[in-house]
Amino acid sequence: MLSRVQTSIGLKLFLSYILVILIGIVVLSFAAELTIPRAFDRHMAGMSSLMGPGMQMGPGMNMFGDFRSAVNEALLLGALASSVGAGLAAVLVSRRMVKPIEQMTEASQRIAEGKYAERVELSGRDMESPEDMDELARLAVSFNRMADKLERTEEMRRQLIGDVAHELRTPLSTVKGSMEGLIDGVLPATQETFRKLHREADRMQRLVQDLQELSRVEAGAYELDMASADISVIIRSSLERLSSQYREKGVALSVSTPDNLPLVEVDGSRIEQVLLNLVGNALQYTPAGGSVRVSAAEEGDELVVRVADTGIGVRREDLNRVFSRFYRVDKSRSRAGGGSGIGLTIAKHIVERHGGRIWAESGGSGEGSTFSFAIPTS
Ligand code: ADP
Repeated sequence: MLSRVQTSIGLKLFLSYILVILIGIVVLSFAAELTIPRAFDRHMAGMSSLMGPGMQMGPGMNMFGDFRSAVNEALLLGALASSVGAGLAAVLVSRRMVKPIEQMTEASQRIAEGKYAERVELSGRDMESPEDMDELARLAVSFNRMADKLERTEEMRRQLIGDVAHELRTPLSTVKGSMEGLIDGVLPATQETFRKLHREADRMQRLVQDLQELSRVEAGAYELDMASADISVIIRSSLERLSSQYREKGVALSVSTPDNLPLVEVDGSRIEQVLLNLVGNALQYTPAGGSVRVSAAEEGDELVVRVADTGIGVRREDLNRVFSRFYRVDKSRSRAGGGSGIGLTIAKHIVERHGGRIWAESGGSGEGSTFSFAIPTS
């Protein structure tokens, strides 16, 4: 019995109610015992003065004894009735309180078995704002939030494994095919063959590096080293790192930043990473003879940085998708350029960690595109 009490909140609640009822009965009996004789005497004295000296109690009349047994009977009946009522209420209340806990225990067991869609039922009233909920309802809401997050993480993990397998399949089958050709003597062992193999190995290596970075960024497993920074300085430093590649390809690169830009609280090296990706993409998707312009401006309570190119552009339906993991508008073209479709996803995560937003605009295919991000200034 003791061990059942120890392991059951419902039983504990029930027993605590019973204890309260017992204490109530004991206190009531003592109080009655102490107060009845004096109250009786007072009332009798009052009655005698009202009825006058002629009124005497007859022999054998034990009014006090009768009164006392009447009160005790009433008390006993009252205590019995209230115990039954309170006992029933205790059962109902403790069942109601324990039910959500039992539900959560069952749901967590099912989640542990891999059934991530499991949720705890919330009654309509519990859906209100957290201030209106009791502790159990708040616990249920947190539980469901945790289950949501677990389900999403599991979905992402499954998707990531599928994507990675898909991304590795192409370079691996190229390498394998070339190796078989070399072994069978069908493919000549020339510099060109080895260079092709090296390119594929290189692509896989870059993919693995990008993936490592992506998993770190997606899990939020990196610290932002925030400091007040001048965005113009970050822009110029990023452009310097890419200027020789622009010259080589024959794409003009220009920058325009006003002098009075406010300082922003950012992790400079992370924002530089975002810029390198945007300006690098602009170069990759802009043919020779085109131009890329990087600008910054204060707009409302945001600092907006734009990278506008005269390149191949992005179709309207792809404008949002380009920020999704592994999404490439033209797979063969991007792959040939070494693109894994991860750069913009990482950029989006970094900008959002800064409380900002990132988006793409384009007039359509061949119309050039503008990739922008905004960081709050306050
Ligand atoms: P990738 O490494 O393939 O460039 P990103 O995540 O950086 O990956 O970009 C995703 C896709 O978005 C690219 O494959 C490309 O199709 C499109 N894209 C990115 N930047 C540009 C741009 N400046 N002009 C046109 N398309 C772009």
